[in-house]
Amino acid sequence: MGDKKKHINDAINLIENEIGEIFAASSMYLSEAWGFDSDTVFFNKVIAVETCFNVFEILDITQKIELKLGRTHKTTDKYQSRIIDIDILFYDDKIIETQRLTVPHPQIPNRRFTLQPLAEIASDFIHPVLNKNISQLLAECNDKSNVEQRNN
Ligand code: AMP
Repeated sequence: MGDKKKHINDAINLIENEIGEIFAASSMYLSEAWGFDSDTVFFNKVIAVETCFNVFEILDITQKIELKLGRTHKTTDKYQSRIIDIDILFYDDKIIETQRLTVPHPQIPNRRFTLQPLAEIASDFIHPVLNKNISQLLAECNDKSNVEQRNN
């Protein structure tokens, strides 16, 4: 919601300051609402970060960043528009399944708005659970919703 490009750039600056150096970043992508009806266009971006924090510490920090940027509610059982949503897609090739955190993010193979930007920066990266690389997952993805690369 609001100035979407600014929210994403603010989040990226905070991630760089508080988590670690960004060594790859996709373009910005525009996508239609996923999982609910909305006229809103969504902005999506995938970044790769080098960090010394463990994945639970990263989740603590990204949740603080979401709050700092004005996200007031956590997810209910419904999808809805929001100011910012930061997801942890992968943490190296680690597999984490706890109540609070699932990594790799379980929706990766189902979401074109995640796979397309991911393919731009990490097409050969092998999903440690599905044992397929990102290009393969994108080719096999059943989500046919519109995802558009922006040039700036
Ligand atoms: P959100 O999509 O930000 O509303 O996430 C809701 C909850 O998902 C968070 O409170 C996290 O505890 C949980 N979660 C589980 N796996 C992940 C992940 N890979 N990245 C981000 N949040 C996650």
